[in-house]
Amino acid sequence: MIGESIYLDYAATTPTDEEVFNVAKPYYTEIFYNPASAHFLGQKANAAVERARRQCADAINANPDEIYFTSGGTESINLALCGVSGGLAVSDIEHDATLACAQKLSCSGADVQYIKVNGEGIVTPAALTDAIDDNIALACVMAVNNIVGSIQPIKDLAAAAHSKGVMFFTDAVQAVNSLEIDVKDWGVDMLAVSGHKFYAPKGVGFLYVKRGVKLNPFTVGGDQEGGLRAGTHNVPAIVAMGEAIQKAKALRAQYIAHITQISSEFINTLDCGTIIECENKTDEIVSVVFRGKDGYINGGRLSTALSVEGVCCSVGSACSAGSATPPQTLLAMGVEHAGSSVRFSFGRNTTTEQARRAAQIVNTVVKRF
Ligand code: PLP
Repeated sequence: MIGESIYLDYAATTPTDEEVFNVAKPYYTEIFYNPASAHFLGQKANAAVERARRQCADAINANPDEIYFTSGGTESINLALCGVSGGLAVSDIEHDATLACAQKLSCSGADVQYIKVNGEGIVTPAALTDAIDDNIALACVMAVNNIVGSIQPIKDLAAAAHSKGVMFFTDAVQAVNSLEIDVKDWGVDMLAVSGHKFYAPKGVGFLYVKRGVKLNPFTVGGDQEGGLRAGTHNVPAIVAMGEAIQKAKALRAQYIAHITQISSEFINTLDCGTIIECENKTDEIVSVVFRGKDGYINGGRLSTALSVEGVCCSVGSACSAGSATPPQTLLAMGVEHAGSSVRFSFGRNTTTEQARRAAQIVNTVVKRF
């Protein structure tokens, strides 16, 4: 790497907030007890878990008994999708965790339908109802897409699913920083969240399950989380997630203003590439298709060249970083030369200077191709 590094991959993960870390720290060393232990020390750890549950519930306008702690987004998605009996309708732009669950269920005989996205990165209620047949029990559309940042009309999509007698799940993993999540207003039946996307540690998340929704357990072997998710709680990470989601809520307006400024600085400095536009999107994510002197540039090669120059960005989600195919979202949107795209994503710690400097480096590197 040449020079100072500039991290523009906040959609892959964020650092743990220092204040959040300090609140969680004693739960590693001093209050290390098992929250399932009946003695009073175990109950101290349990009290911390239940406090975090209330914080998570409050942040999305849910009831605490509707929050089920998991190891993150992927597990929450697996719990929701594999826990429902019946067919699935999933949008074409879902994260691999959702698409892989759908594929697995399809292989075991479940009916799986795909909901089309339009060229502007949006899934419409009409597209959702088109995909629903009599075998479908659950429709799944993510709240904020992790490749292009498109914001989906979740309230309308949930209403459309319900009008067909189908439950509605949303993957809100990329939504916590910039969207006000209100499960009651949105009318969703289930919603997945992952801590490491909003300045909590990796390996912790939760699934919101509306009262009355019946799910089959994902893991068995313990009574934790109402028997829906067996296994000892990761107490410090859960404590951190409760703090982090409250902080994300408190900082939201300030965060959006910051991200808007950072992304305009980046886009205004960029003198090459075609930005992938969406009808409605978060400024946290900017995906760009690049062309060099001799034609379109391979996105993987470009992101590697940028990494050598200190700019850390990505081609698609970190979970499919080894894949040679372009991100599914771009293919589904019909983006031309999708294999030439690179995703830049910004966060709380990105400075204006870093955004400008990164765009200048991109300009220079692209000219070399
Ligand atoms: N859903 C979306 C939209 C994501 O961006 C990610 C992570 O990249 C996941 C799900 C998976 O979450 P986790 O990394 O917590 O398993």
